[in-house]
Amino acid sequence: MIQKIKGTMDILPEETPLWRHIEGIMREEAERYGYGEIRTPTFENTELFVRGVGDTTDVVQKEMYTFADRDEGRSISLRPEGTASVVRALIENGKCSDPMPLKYYYIMSCFRHEKPQAGRSREFFQFGTEMFGSASPAADATAISLANSVLNRLGLKNVKLHVNSIGCKDCRPTYRKALVDYYSSHIDSLCDTCKTRLDKNPLRLLDCKNPDCHALAAGAPRTVDHLCDTCKGNFDMLGRALDAMNIDYEVDPAIVRGLDYYTGTVFEFIAEGIGSQSTVCGGGRYDGLVSSLGGPELSGIGFGMGITRLILALRELGLDSLEAERPEIYIASLGERAMIKGLEIAERLRREGKFAECDVVGRSLKAQMKYANKKGARYTLIIGDSEIDAGIAQLRDMESGEQREVSLDSFSL
Ligand code: ATP
Ligand code: MG
Repeated sequence: MIQKIKGTMDILPEETPLWRHIEGIMREEAERYGYGEIRTPTFENTELFVRGVGDTTDVVQKEMYTFADRDEGRSISLRPEGTASVVRALIENGKCSDPMPLKYYYIMSCFRHEKPQAGRSREFFQFGTEMFGSASPAADATAISLANSVLNRLGLKNVKLHVNSIGCKDCRPTYRKALVDYYSSHIDSLCDTCKTRLDKNPLRLLDCKNPDCHALAAGAPRTVDHLCDTCKGNFDMLGRALDAMNIDYEVDPAIVRGLDYYTGTVFEFIAEGIGSQSTVCGGGRYDGLVSSLGGPELSGIGFGMGITRLILALRELGLDSLEAERPEIYIASLGERAMIKGLEIAERLRREGKFAECDVVGRSLKAQMKYANKKGARYTLIIGDSEIDAGIAQLRDMESGEQREVSLDSFSL
């Protein structure tokens, strides 16, 4: 028996109605905010993610699915996230000179070789949005508002918004120094990974999940206390915009985000009661990314929302049961002639836009009715030779139990 790859999932017909409901809300909300859908390839040149996501990140160092292509020995990788691909597509398709801002959204699968657990898988599904061409906190507030309205429409009352600013290339160096000084004086308490991070990427120490490192992070210098005037002004304006839009938030110095490209505003929506993988949505500003991938200087702000984690949060509130669409009619038949008549009637009703099923197995009436019940058919119709000869049969309403006589060739629902 061949089994699925560890960390992947099958989404069965019982579950897809909920997925489609969630995805439908994402598409509708994104489009109401003027975002257009973009679809990019599942795999890209590895170099795109090394440069775009950052070669000191866990995602690139430990989690990417990378392999040699069959030709030219080129290295390619399954996408671990969406932003780098969207930026590449924007540059490659000459969109950088279009009227700004540009707003894109996507629903895509991403791949990371992580330790599988509830809310963390190796193939996962993300709703993401990117807005390019505005450095204003008004754009940050818009992105946050979009994520917030998706969560609101889903009914996720157990989710809280945490915001922070991690500064820009002007204020980062002073902050970085304060951080390195702080952690250097506690170096013996750091985990091995953090000891190496201290040189390369000290900001990452703040979101290390190791309990000792986590405890140290609480007393670490805060980015918000080291912002330059511009970053400080932007962060203040973001707060005023969110207040005006009536969006609740909390300033949280622990939010630094795992990918290298973030600058300025960063945020997460965190769900309560779903365990440790509780960030349902993470995002922020990435003003240096477009130019670092060969495009012009263009600001960006976006987020990624993990669909599996949303489902966990919905389940916590008992909001995760959505039924599959039910047949309006099931046509049971006895014998080959009736089976063909059943196909004919079902076909006619489907062309009228109805959801119709008929027997295609040729089994007993009892077995057919059991199937119709399981599918929750609203009406059933039973036909055999005598019904075909008379041209009429009994249409049964499965909810009320009432029957009425109908003409086989002309009835409708
Ligand atoms: P985390 O800190 O939880 O690992 P992250 O910072 O790595 O998250 P992002 O790269 O920002 O996550 O991805 C955006 C969102 O995608 C996350 O907030 C989360 O909801 C979801 N996500 C990320 N990695 C996974 C995964 N392995 N399995 C399921 N969902 C994921
Ligand atoms: Mg991660």
